[in-house]
Amino acid sequence: MKINKNFLDLEANYLFSTVGKKQREYQAAHPEADVIKLSIGDVTKPLCPAVIEAMHKAVDEMADEKSFRGYPPETGYDFIIEKILKYDFTDRGIKMDKSEIFLSDGAKSDCGNIGDIFAVDNKVAICDPVYPVYLDTNIMFGRKNNVIIMPCTEENGFSPKVPAEGDEIPDIIYLCFPNNPTGSVATRQQLKEWVDYANKHHSVILFDAAYEAFITDNSIPKSIYEIEGARTCAIELRSFSKTAGFTGVRCGYTVVPHDLVFDGTELNAMWFRRQSTKFNGVSYITQRAAEAIYSDIGQKQIQENLNYYRENAKIIFNGLTEAGFKCYGGIYSPYIWFKVPEGYTSWSFFDELLDQCNVVGTPGSGFGKCGEGFLRLTAFGNKERTIEAVERIKAKYGKK
Ligand code: PLP
Repeated sequence: MKINKNFLDLEANYLFSTVGKKQREYQAAHPEADVIKLSIGDVTKPLCPAVIEAMHKAVDEMADEKSFRGYPPETGYDFIIEKILKYDFTDRGIKMDKSEIFLSDGAKSDCGNIGDIFAVDNKVAICDPVYPVYLDTNIMFGRKNNVIIMPCTEENGFSPKVPAEGDEIPDIIYLCFPNNPTGSVATRQQLKEWVDYANKHHSVILFDAAYEAFITDNSIPKSIYEIEGARTCAIELRSFSKTAGFTGVRCGYTVVPHDLVFDGTELNAMWFRRQSTKFNGVSYITQRAAEAIYSDIGQKQIQENLNYYRENAKIIFNGLTEAGFKCYGGIYSPYIWFKVPEGYTSWSFFDELLDQCNVVGTPGSGFGKCGEGFLRLTAFGNKERTIEAVERIKAKYGKK
């Protein structure tokens, strides 16, 4: 038996384990310290009442022989797919067919699994800094030497430029807006440039819209399909994790338009084949939970939670700006990406913040080389604790 040696090419990803370890060690050495964690990108507010009610009802149905359900349809029950179609696409003026939506257990699996339908020798463009799943899953597939890094810096507003004439042409392009970790968003014009580029070179864009719910400005696209031409070049990944607090429930969906045709084959048919072979669908209870998000009351309730996080983001952004830090993101994103002071690295400033303010962030360098010199704070925490953390940072670093 031979192992998949591509796994040996993965860099050990110590980011969140090192963050956790450092925090635990600090706490053990300073038991009196009141440490506030603004590091991990997980939600903290409970599921909204409409979702809980739908789940309870679905559990009761599963307890009765007459309403019990076994294996679900591979791509989702009509009741949820129709809601997704209406609210996320048709109501926003986007044409999409039922058969183009694939319900899943979340965007992380889809991000990784989608690679099954692409040849190994494709060239892949990935941002730096980045959500690590894109790079790691491509390395697992054996594309280590086929990765084109797209630096995302202050200079380009953390939004990569399309490759120039003569540059290497990527076959697969990963884009994520609102971005994790930088919190940047893409304008219609920027996305249009990517769509035109992908169509011109017959590349495919994998558009990760996991944080689209944080966009409140209608001029900023929530979906890449708001851009003309996207149906022939883009797959979109969506998640209910950050939209509705489903990180522990697990549900998302991927959009694969029929117009995506490569080597004479529809990617939609390939993804259907892949999913129906390797995935057995999302649980009935979870699908009812997701459906409840689309009711009027569900929409209102998830917006209340999103507003709570948006408020936290504002508190962090404004507080840190007041303390003299250059901040990015935090407006249409739950992440605040800020520059560490001169003379520090991401990790040395992480250590100082933990020691001096008892606040835990995430070092930007953990998301890629271009993240060096930055720290990410998350707005997914408790409001009072967030205020307390920001006050401590202001007291330590703000102008006296
Ligand atoms: N995409 C991005 C950019 C993320 O930051 C995350 C989670 O943090 C995911 C996808 C994963 O989402 P899910 O919980 O649906 O797997």
